Amino acid sequence: MRLTRRDFIKHACYLGSLAILPLSARRGWGDREPWRPSYRTLEAEGKFAGRIDRAYAIFEECELCPRRCGVNRSKGERGFCRAPLRPVVFSAHPHFGEETPLVGHNGSGTIFFSNCNLRCVFCQNWPISHRGEGREMDDAQVARIMLKLQRRGCHNINLVTPTHVMPNILNAARIAMKEGLRIPLVYNTSGYERLTILHLLDGVVDIYLPDMKYMDPEQAATYSPGASDYPEVAMDALVEMNRQVGVLKTDEEGIARRGLIVRHLVMPNRVAGTEKLVQWIARELPRSTYVNIMPQYRVEYRAYEYPRIARGITREEFLEAISWAEEAGLTNLDDRSLMMRDFLRRR
Ligand code: SF4
Repeated sequence: MRLTRRDFIKHACYLGSLAILPLSARRGWGDREPWRPSYRTLEAEGKFAGRIDRAYAIFEECELCPRRCGVNRSKGERGFCRAPLRPVVFSAHPHFGEETPLVGHNGSGTIFFSNCNLRCVFCQNWPISHRGEGREMDDAQVARIMLKLQRRGCHNINLVTPTHVMPNILNAARIAMKEGLRIPLVYNTSGYERLTILHLLDGVVDIYLPDMKYMDPEQAATYSPGASDYPEVAMDALVEMNRQVGVLKTDEEGIARRGLIVRHLVMPNRVAGTEKLVQWIARELPRSTYVNIMPQYRVEYRAYEYPRIARGITREEFLEAISWAEEAGLTNLDDRSLMMRDFLRRR
C-alpha cells in the first residue's frame, strides 16, 4: 500500500485531535518555579546585546551557514541562499500542526522566513524557500509579529528556516523582549548549522527543532546540491544543541519549555538513512531524546526528476522506520508517529 498525501492529512488530523496534551504531559518536569526564557537571563547578565553585534558582523562576509559564501550582505550581495540583508517573512500565525508539546492549547507562534541555505530538490515548502516569496521587513517589524503571536496565546515563537537571518532574529527577539516577550524561541532548522553560529545562540534559544535529513554524503549531495557534508555537520550540530538545552522539558500542562526535538522525514527507497540515524541517536544522544519520525513525504518541486524519490513512501517504509527506532532503544518518539504506526498496522 502506498501512503498518499490525502491519507496522511486525513489521518493526521484525526490522530492529532486525539493527541492534544495528556500523553505528553507525562514528560512534565513537575516543578512550579517561575519560568523565564533563556534570553531574559542572558540580558540580565548583560550579554545579549554583544551577541547581536557579533552576529551582525558576520553579514559583512557571510559565514552564517556551512556554505560560507563570504558575500557582503550588508552591501546587498547575495549568496547561495539568495537572501537579502533584511528578513523576508512569508507568513506568521498560530500553527496547530507541529509537535504536541509545541502546539499546546493555543498553537505554536510560527514565523516562516523565506529563502533557505539548503535548497533541497524535494523541498516541501519550495515557493517560500526557493522563490523567496514574502515581504521584506526590518527587525522591529519582526519583533512586533513576535509580540502579536504572544498576545494571541501562542506558547512559543517558532522560527522556521532561521539560519540565514539569525542576526535579525536575535535583534528582533531583544526588541520584543524589551516590550514584554517572555515565551521560548524555537529554532526550527534544517540542521545544516555551523558550531560557531550555534555558540552565538547558546542562552538565547530554548528549544531546538532540527531536521536530520540524511546520513549518507552521496544522498545529501544529490538531493541538497553541494551539501555532501550535511550528515557530518548536522550530527555535530545535534550534539551541540543537546549540550545547550538537553532532553525536552515541559511544564505541568505538557507544553514545551526547553530542549531538543529531532525531526526526521522518512523518504522513499531508504534515501534518508533512517536505520543509521536512529542507531546514531541511541549511541550519541540520550535515548530519551524527543524524536519525530515523519511520514508526510510528498513529491514536490523537482523530486519528479529523481527516480528514487519520485513517489510517496509506502506503509512498509514507515513501519520499518518506527521499528528501527524502537529496536535502537529510543524511548521518546512523537505521539502522533506512534498513533500513525498503530493505525497502519491495523490496515
Ligand atoms: S547564509 Fe546564505 S549567504 Fe550566508 S553563507 Fe549561508 S548560503 Fe551563503
